Amino acid sequence: MSAIDADHYRAVLEARRADLLSLSDNAKDARKPVELDQQSIGRLSRQDALQQQAMAKAQEARRSAELRKIDAALLRVEEGEFGYCAECGEAIATKRLDIDPTATRCAPCASAQ
Ligand SMILES: [Zn+2]
Repeated sequence: MSAIDADHYRAVLEARRADLLSLSDNAKDARKPVELDQQSIGRLSRQDALQQQAMAKAQEARRSAELRKIDAALLRVEEGEFGYCAECGEAIATKRLDIDPTATRCAPCASAQ
């Protein structure tokens, strides 16, 4: 049985983490409260502005959920538990980890849910 290349996944996870943080930073303005002042909204109607803000907030929620999963996976790398199923303790298939390095369960356990 070959050991899981945790360093490789650590690099993947850290790159994804950096991406998410910069995306989040770039979108910061979009999440600001909608100004009631028509001047600052420009030609966007207030409703459009509110809708865009809601979308930006939903995106941010998805990003922070993914960041939490990434942080948890990085912690498992640190603790030497990365790549093992939280349910049965077996190694998670590399194929699966390549698709989602934040996976916490092997495919059989995940599909048994
Ligand atoms: Zn399992």
